[in-house]
Amino acid sequence: MDSSRAARTAVVVGAGIAGLTAATALARGGWQVEIAEISPAEATSGWGLCLTGPSLRALAELRLADSCLAEGHGMTTVTHVDVTGEPVDQIRLPRLIGARRPAMAGIARPVLHRILHAEAERCGVVVHRGLTVVAVEQVENARAAASAPSEPVRVRLSDGTIRQAGLIVGADGIGSSVRTRLGLDASVDYHGQMVWRALVPRPPWATGIHQFAGKPNTAGFVPISGSLAYVFLTENGVEQSYLPNAELAPRLQQLLEPFPGRVEELRHLVAVSKSVVRRPVRTTFLEGPWHRGNGVVIGDAAHAPAPQMASGAALAIEDGLVLAEELGRHLSVGEGLAAFTGRRRQRCRTLVETSVAIAGLEQAQRHHDAYALVDACHQQMSEPA
Ligand SMILES: Cc1cc2nc3c(=O)[nH]c(=O)nc-3n(C[C@H](O)[C@H](O)[C@H](O)COP(=O)(O)OP(=O)(O)OC[C@H]3O[C@@H](n4cnc5c(N)ncnc54)[C@H](O)[C@@H]3O)c2cc1C
Repeated sequence: MDSSRAARTAVVVGAGIAGLTAATALARGGWQVEIAEISPAEATSGWGLCLTGPSLRALAELRLADSCLAEGHGMTTVTHVDVTGEPVDQIRLPRLIGARRPAMAGIARPVLHRILHAEAERCGVVVHRGLTVVAVEQVENARAAASAPSEPVRVRLSDGTIRQAGLIVGADGIGSSVRTRLGLDASVDYHGQMVWRALVPRPPWATGIHQFAGKPNTAGFVPISGSLAYVFLTENGVEQSYLPNAELAPRLQQLLEPFPGRVEELRHLVAVSKSVVRRPVRTTFLEGPWHRGNGVVIGDAAHAPAPQMASGAALAIEDGLVLAEELGRHLSVGEGLAAFTGRRRQRCRTLVETSVAIAGLEQAQRHHDAYALVDACHQQMSEPA
């Protein structure tokens, strides 16, 4: 047995969506949890996020869906618009948290993080900001430490302090350093696309998601509150590159120019945007084990899809719930982590692979095939995690 239920202490690395939800679920299961988050301050700006049905379902399990719906913008439809600016169809997504509640929600990232953070702290999780992990000693060495046989992970933090824990969870995103420290191999792939997001005032007509097919790029729009929305654009066939902040809004406006119809209105709104971001479309999927000894990686650290499926958050929140559930079911942490990976692997693989296929279809300007694949995958993801 590599650990016993008596030693229920965990260090979670990363206070993102995966880290905060896993910490909350573990704390509710009786674990003492500390989070080490490298960023010194909570984000006060940033772009929005679409919480799809599975995200809302997982948040409902954490009893947080209503707070997110109250502060975000509930939606049920996705309108597809073709290259001439004409709407071609409208998809109604399944309502996974009840017929009277919306199928999905747009929300500002800082708002979601605030809600998750507050709940983690309410459950007793201690969140340290400006702190990271500089060394992890795993089972073999730590087992020799007779004083702490049931807490076989020795974690050294960047402030020089040491934690002896029963579990370390790497929730530190696609570039995870915990993944490397645990010796888990992953390649991060770039897909020739840069994605743009701009926060804008919400026009009254924009009550659901809109996706606009274009040549060579695609664009869209997601409401995130009564007054705010974000415009998105996927730029095809470009190298990964950096643009200074001052160039972002003018360049995004330029990229939106060829789109007919309502995008014209959105383009003018981008001019007054206070936040425009541009990120590379990168994915990873850990083919080998996701855990070693009493360490595990979750969320984007284990499986990062391309953003086009708007489902990375769903996978991250589901990971936290399933992790706590499986650790609660097994006396041994090692067995719990193996069961966790067994339950999550195929679902996460399907999502990452589909998102990569969508990126390819977009690059080939096969918009209708991309839409169909997105919708089919949303249907598949609506099955329980
Ligand atoms: C442009 C874009 C748009 C997206 N849109 C959507 C969407 O609409 N809907 C959706 O569901 N998903 C979307 N996603 C995906 C989603 O954002 C991710 O899947 C999700 O954030 C993963 O959560 P995470 O907690 O695993 O990782 P992250 O959100 O990356 O969080 C990792 C955390 O770990 C911290 N950290 C990193 N390194 C260290 C370290 N060494 N030590 C300590 N802390 C560390 C980071 O500061 C961060 O707080 C989008 C992604 C992108 C790039």
